[in-house]
Amino acid sequence: ATDFGIHDALKKLGVNDINDGTSTGSNNFSSGDLISSYSPVDGSLIAKVKTTTKADYEKVMSTATSAFKEWRTKPAPQRGEIVRQFGDKLRELKEPLGKLVSYEMGKSYQEGLGEVQEMIDICDFAVGLSRQLHGLTMHSERPGHRMYEQYHSLGVVGIISAFNFPVAVWAWNTALAWICGDVCVWKPSEKTPLCGIACQNIAADVFKANNLPEGISCLINGDYKVGELMTQDNRIPLVSATGSIRMGKIVAQAVAARLGKSLLELGGNNAIIVTPDADLKMTVIGAVFGAVGTAGQRCTSTRRLIIHESMYDKVKEAVVAAYQQLRIGNPLDENNHVGPLIDTDAVAQYKLALEKVVSEGGKLIVEGGVLEGKGYESGCYVKPAIAEAKNDFEIVQHETFAPVLYLLKYSGDVENAIAIQNGVVQGLSSAIMTNNLREAERFLSAWGSDCGIANVNIGTSGAEIGGAFGGEKETGGGRESGSDAWKVYMRRQTNTINYTTELPLAQGIKFDL
Ligand code: NAD
Repeated sequence: ATDFGIHDALKKLGVNDINDGTSTGSNNFSSGDLISSYSPVDGSLIAKVKTTTKADYEKVMSTATSAFKEWRTKPAPQRGEIVRQFGDKLRELKEPLGKLVSYEMGKSYQEGLGEVQEMIDICDFAVGLSRQLHGLTMHSERPGHRMYEQYHSLGVVGIISAFNFPVAVWAWNTALAWICGDVCVWKPSEKTPLCGIACQNIAADVFKANNLPEGISCLINGDYKVGELMTQDNRIPLVSATGSIRMGKIVAQAVAARLGKSLLELGGNNAIIVTPDADLKMTVIGAVFGAVGTAGQRCTSTRRLIIHESMYDKVKEAVVAAYQQLRIGNPLDENNHVGPLIDTDAVAQYKLALEKVVSEGGKLIVEGGVLEGKGYESGCYVKPAIAEAKNDFEIVQHETFAPVLYLLKYSGDVENAIAIQNGVVQGLSSAIMTNNLREAERFLSAWGSDCGIANVNIGTSGAEIGGAFGGEKETGGGRESGSDAWKVYMRRQTNTINYTTELPLAQGIKFDL
């Protein structure tokens, strides 16, 4: 059996495979228990990684805090130059890194490459931004005074990331944090630790080649207990956490208890509204890719299709027919559409969701099931399923991180569809398929979609660098990557300067001595 060049890729990324025992990576002080990284693609053990103990963590924090003292003094455009070099290094290593993402996480090779491309794109964005960290100037009410605001580096940024975007989410944070003059400590998902080591190696090489302190980029490994070291640490002014709503609620409270800042990117329950004026072909492509791409393991995956009753049967038939064409198998084989779920726990959640929707009165119209036999030995491959359901079913209200699509029917006006779309606790991504301008504008209006992302005539899945990314309600409210998302990585300061020989007080207060 071919290994699709995975061991060669690991070598190029400086990640030791199982034959070499444990992997540590650069600037990684980890000396704790081992965690094993198994590939969901074929079930094999890729490598073991040492976790970070409390004592290791202290060493990491001391390199990070001392690196910050130096890094923050470097002019922002020069920090941008370092990020430019980092982007170039990613261009060089795009293929091996894309392959590792695919093999360790289970998404298609094409999507693995796409994730690395997103890292490259955010670097380009950050380089330009490094000359645009603008503040405002204001006219002072006092004569001979100047008033302005400026942005300063914040400090050590803690990054906690999820398994499903094992490399891009880190870069979304680091590329901006670095040009802002911050240093980063990253805890990747314990399900994808090798992606973390590979990225850390790439960053460490760039900092070393520029004689910069290694602590600008730090890695810590392990599960939530290692993450908690950061959420409870006063030395970390900002914790950026991506993952489940359950995690976000715990992290937000821990960080708030010490009055730190958190940037939360949590779960979604994304819907596409299909109106009577929808283009059927575009709807099918958007819905099917959105529901089954990355095996339904994107925060922006399409979970609900809200279809007008006049279109319902037609859309249902077309989507079901498209599902019959799906090829499920090794994601490194570009002939396949759908790869595995991350692990067998995720498979159990998927099975539970299918049982639950039926017990609540839903009807499976594409049955689903776990695949067995040759090529499916990892036990992580499942068939994408479709159920007819109601929005108020408990299971429909919940984000199941698997390829399960719910069909919901609406009648009457587009406002009824918008009410269903907004009738969940999450608020990440949303879309409407329509050629009717009035419907599209109502969907985008103040009384339209309540999500952080609202699209017209494209699906819910994915986003591009440039726009701020994130969601409302229980999705956590954070915004990352594009637009003015950089501001959260800096502290704002307002300055007033008096260039006269008098000292007038604000609000006309008199204080004569
Ligand atoms: P998860 O919540 O299980 O874990 C995410 C990360 O949080 C991991 O690194 C984990 O170790 C850490 N963690 C968990 N509990 C913690 C605690 N108490 N303190 C500190 N750290 C803790 O999520 P997952 O299964 O890896 O990822 C899937 C979830 O992530 C989905 O809900 C998905 O929608 C969401 N997600 C959201 C976005 C977004 O941008 N909105 C992007 C990707 C994934």
